[in-house]
Order: sequence, then structure tokens, then C-alpha cells
Amino acid sequence: MKNIYLDNASARPVEPRVSEFIRECLKDTFGNPSSLHSAGLEAKKIIEEARVKVAELINAENENCIIFTSGATETNNLAIKGVAFRNKEKKKRVVSSDIEHISVLNSMKELLKNGIEFNTVPVNSEGIVDIEKLSNILNSDVVITSVMYANSEIGTIEPVKEISETVHKMGGYFHSDATAAAGHIPIDVQKDGIDLLTLSSNDMYGPQGAGALYIKPGIKIQPVILGGGQEKGIRSGTENILAIAGMGEASKIAKKEMDEEAKRLIKMRDELIDGVLKIENSYLTGHPTRRLPYQASFRFNRIEGESILLNMDMYGIQIATGSACSSKTLEPSHTLLAIGLKHEEAHGSMVLTLGRANNTEEIPVVVKAVRETVERLRKLSPL
Ligand code: PMP
Repeated sequence: MKNIYLDNASARPVEPRVSEFIRECLKDTFGNPSSLHSAGLEAKKIIEEARVKVAELINAENENCIIFTSGATETNNLAIKGVAFRNKEKKKRVVSSDIEHISVLNSMKELLKNGIEFNTVPVNSEGIVDIEKLSNILNSDVVITSVMYANSEIGTIEPVKEISETVHKMGGYFHSDATAAAGHIPIDVQKDGIDLLTLSSNDMYGPQGAGALYIKPGIKIQPVILGGGQEKGIRSGTENILAIAGMGEASKIAKKEMDEEAKRLIKMRDELIDGVLKIENSYLTGHPTRRLPYQASFRFNRIEGESILLNMDMYGIQIATGSACSSKTLEPSHTLLAIGLKHEEAHGSMVLTLGRANNTEEIPVVVKAVRETVERLRKLSPL
């Protein structure tokens, strides 16, 4: 039985060209990038080259806008707490959408302990942030508003430019978590009006253990991790050189190949959606067209997502249910509740995320397995 991996939003296989690039770096580089001797300078060069490649992926003003971290969770913590703490004497409110990743929501909740107020803005049934409600929530006391670029669980791409304009009218900073979007759809921080952007290495086929924060020139933030002053004093700790090198190379490849790859994936995604929606009482979750090229997500009445996942695994097909990052909890996904699903509806979700390794021949195999799985589980269902 051939394995078909459709859980790319949880983890992506490292691109072989990236592995090869890292292997080459490993050959000669072992120095500490903060050391002034030649071994240190060699290591520093690798990091600085990666910084340029990441900056180019999102059209940052220059490479100095990029701060490397250990991943998206740390980056979200740094962006939100860093801006809120730096400005806490002047402004005392923060805002996010209802469908942010838990690392955004928990960073904002943490600020409550420091006398900062946190409000969330709802999304519609397709997962799009309600701009009018956002306008009503914002005032000049809001220091940072965080809305993700796209949601990997329902696939929806947010109207980021409109959101940034709304945020800026009230004088606050706009942060966007682009973990699910970067490297898959074009992002231009300057055109989009983004002040801070979260990026993740593995989500664009780089190695785990690296992430980055884009900070628009002129914006000052307070560091969260203190120490030797690496990364311009914003993120201390000796840099994870090889993961950062891989993230840079992954960004370069993504920038070059994104358009072609998106076309290929959209075709497969839409075939998946058409095929699965032919199953009785199945529904697409998220926006029908404003969606990530690699993402197809559904819900089914009367069955549990966990059972779908385990049954599909018996066909050799790996999928996700609910949130890719915290699917071990049995709580219904906060994103699915936020788009208006009832608890019992949110429990029957299935998330398929395609990647570079998938091909069109796999689609009918997957659709058939989903149909058989849903029919089998429904026969067994007491609901
Ligand atoms: N933000 C988003 C939108 C995510 O989907 C994830 C999980 N991949 C994260 C942040 C956190 O990523 P990590 O667990 O790699 O830090």
C-alpha cells in the first residue's frame, strides 16, 4: 500500500535541496557567529545570507528587518509581548481575531496579568474577519492587533491589506502570523501594510527549529529572551545556524517556485473538494475561493474526526482533524466554533493539506478512501 501524506500543515518533509544545502554548510562551519575570528565570521556569513533570502521572500525593506527565532510560537510571543511591553506606559489594549493560533491567543491573555486589556474580533461563517466589528473594537488605546495571514485549519486567506488599513487608522501596529501562508502565496509586507510578520521554517519545507519575525523599520520592541544580545539585542541566544541556513534556502526556493506550485496544488485541491463534497451530508469549511492552494477541509455529520483520522491511516493516508497543532485535546477546535459550528458539528472535521510530494493520481484514491471511511463510520455511529 502506497503511503499518501496529507498533513503538511502539521509538518512538512524537509526539501531535499534544503538538506543538501545544510550538509554543505555543515562541512566547514562550526564557529559561533558572535566570535570575531574567521570561524565565527564564516558562521555569521551563513546567517546573514539566510536573512537576505527570508527578507526577499516577503519583500521586506531590507534584511535587517528579519530577526531569527526558534519557530512560530516564539515569534508570536516576541511580536505581541515585545510590542505591548515596550508601549505599556502609553497604550493598554491588544486585539486579535477569534481564530488565531493558541500561541497568539495565550500571549495576549498573558498580558492581562500586566493590566493590559485583550479583546477578540469575530469572523464570519467562512472565517473572514469582520472589518466593521474590528473598526468598532479599535480605539487609540490599542497598541497591537494580530490577525493571521491565512488559517491552515479552514484554509481561509484574510483580507490583510484592508485589516492593516483599519488598524492604522487608529494608530496601532498590525501583526500577522503568516505561518500557514508564507512560501505558499505571495506576501509583500510593504504593499500589505504589515508592521510585524511571523514566519516558520518547516511550514515552507525548511528544517524545524527556526522561525523569523519581520519588524518594519522604526518599530521598537522589548526583547522577551534576555542574554548575550544576539539578533540586534531582540532575541538573545546563540543562533541555530543550520536551521537558519535551511530556512533561508527554503525561502529562496519557495519564492522562485511558488506560482507554478500553487497552480498545481489548486488543481488537486479543487478535485479533492469536488470529490469529497459528493458524499452525502459533507460540507466544506472555510472560504470557497479565498483559500490556501494546499488546503481542503470538511465536516461530516454524525461522525468524529478522530475516527476518520484513524480509519484513513489504515488506508495509508495521513490526515488531520481540528487544529493541526493541538489535535491531542478532545476539545472542539476554537476556529470551528468561531465560524459558527455547533460543538457536535465541530467534532466531525477533516483537514487535508497537500504538499510538494503529492500528485494528481493520488486524488481519486483519497476521495474513495474518504467515502468508504465516512460510510463505514456512519453505519457504526450511535448518533
Ligand atoms: N501559528 C500558526 C498559524 C500555526 O499553524 C502554528 C503551528 N504550525 C504555529 C503558529 C506554531 O508553530 P510552532 O509550533 O512550529 O511554533
